[in-house]
Amino acid sequence: MKRVIVDMDGVMADVYHQLVQFEKRDSGREIEISNLVGIPEIEAFPNGKKHVNEVGFFRTLPVMEGSRAALEYINNKYELYIVSAGMEFPNSLREKFDWLGEHFPFISWEQIVLCGSKKVIHGDVMIDDYPKNLDHFYPTPQRADRKRTLQESVFMGRDHGYSVRKKDYTFFRTSITKW
Ligand SMILES: [Mg+2]
Repeated sequence: MKRVIVDMDGVMADVYHQLVQFEKRDSGREIEISNLVGIPEIEAFPNGKKHVNEVGFFRTLPVMEGSRAALEYINNKYELYIVSAGMEFPNSLREKFDWLGEHFPFISWEQIVLCGSKKVIHGDVMIDDYPKNLDHFYPTPQRADRKRTLQESVFMGRDHGYSVRKKDYTFFRTSITKW
């Protein structure tokens, strides 16, 4: 059975939506995500670091549209692990665990890996919105040191040739059946 590694933030949880809401709450400024595709996150969300360190930020993240059905599908068919680099924000660990319990109750604690670096992670397929994680998972001689920018896509790794739009989990589901 293939092992599928799925990221949380930006794949299951809509972090950008939360950052937009927090920015609006604090400064009244409206950030339009569609205008910022390709911009580094630090520039798109100048107060982002403060916001992600706020108690409750990760616990109240909206679920990415369509992701629950997609994850249920993967869970029934493959060996699924949720892998999130929660150590970057230590306060998020409990919040992420509780968030998964509320929104993805079919995922057991044994399938949840909250870690530091994802370099130690092994599997057959990684679904992650951070190119750097995919570069380690799918190493190539031409590995590029890419910056983290706002994206419209959830990347599934170059080897598979798929690039799935965040909200198009129907396509995602079609693609995964090919694995
Ligand atoms: Mg992510």
